[in-house]
Amino acid sequence: MNKETEHVKCLIIGSGPAGYTAAIYAARADLKPVLYTGIVPGGQLTQTTEVENFPGYPKGILGPEMMEEFRQQAERFGTDIRFGYATSVDFSESPHKVIIDENVTLTADAVIIATGASAKWLGLESEQKYNGFGVSACAVCDGFFFKGQEVAIVGAGDTAAEEATYLAKLCSMVHMLVRRDVFRASKAMEARVFNTANIEVHYNTETKEIVGDGQNVTGVKVINNRTQVESVINVTGFFVAIGHKPNTDIFKGWLDMDDTGYLITKPGSTHTNVDGVFVCGDAQDKVYRQAVTAAGTGCMAALDAERYLAEREYRV
Ligand code: NDP
Repeated sequence: MNKETEHVKCLIIGSGPAGYTAAIYAARADLKPVLYTGIVPGGQLTQTTEVENFPGYPKGILGPEMMEEFRQQAERFGTDIRFGYATSVDFSESPHKVIIDENVTLTADAVIIATGASAKWLGLESEQKYNGFGVSACAVCDGFFFKGQEVAIVGAGDTAAEEATYLAKLCSMVHMLVRRDVFRASKAMEARVFNTANIEVHYNTETKEIVGDGQNVTGVKVINNRTQVESVINVTGFFVAIGHKPNTDIFKGWLDMDDTGYLITKPGSTHTNVDGVFVCGDAQDKVYRQAVTAAGTGCMAALDAERYLAEREYRV
């Protein structure tokens, strides 16, 4: 049962770089944004260690610290930041309805979705144990730490192919673990892998365990699913690239999305198919997925929302 209903001008769902950037712009434009953080305040970056590729931090910064700075900047201009998780929406009419934690109902003139995406993991205990200590789900973020070293990457889609070639530029050897005997990646991406001398593709290979010395990764135990032969490949880095899942389930039936759940925007904007509902960050981006690109689209969403609200006021 809904305990309370509150009306806000601008509601932001999500607290990664996209959500907080939208909040900074929306607050400075006097849209009085209310932001719900979701279950992981700060988003995916709070689960990484050093961030070295976000402009403005020449010495690098820890992911959780950077997100704390984003939060403070959003708060400084008056964003009302609240812990809570959007559990359902009703976009059938304006103002739009968003339910938080199943029992708080808000209506909003403009909704900015910045719910992000979650990396898929293999689900091994050792994978979680060494996450951040040799295990990573982002080669572009963490590849640099394995310069000159031997690493493994699991997956055979476009992301894995792209990240394997990225890693091959930095690392001495990249072992690509492919569970079937074919790639899922496009032919062009596959060709890039085949044309890179220091990528070794291991077909029919599944990961059994990440091996470590208690502190850092030292190898990966694999099994050939045809021969059932087990072996250990000595690596210091283990990258998981088996896909991401956009956090968009609650928008099914309301917003246009592709067959993998990424929300679709009108070209060159953050407008969704519903007037007054905007989307930014990884929830709508399966290609770039960087903090800086998420922040960029967060800015766009706030500007789009501001224009939408101004035009609406003018019409009334
Ligand atoms: P995909 O879903 O396309 O591929 C996932 C890969 O991971 C598959 O090869 C899959 O194997 C493998 N996999 C899944 N689960 C496991 C598991 N438990 N163990 C081992 N392997 C596993 O995800 P991507 O992130 O690669 O791509 C997502 C979308 O983004 C695609 O549409 C892609 O084209 C697009 N993209 C485009 C890029 C570009 O244009 N530059 C760059 C990156 C992504 P299997 O094949 O056996 O199912």
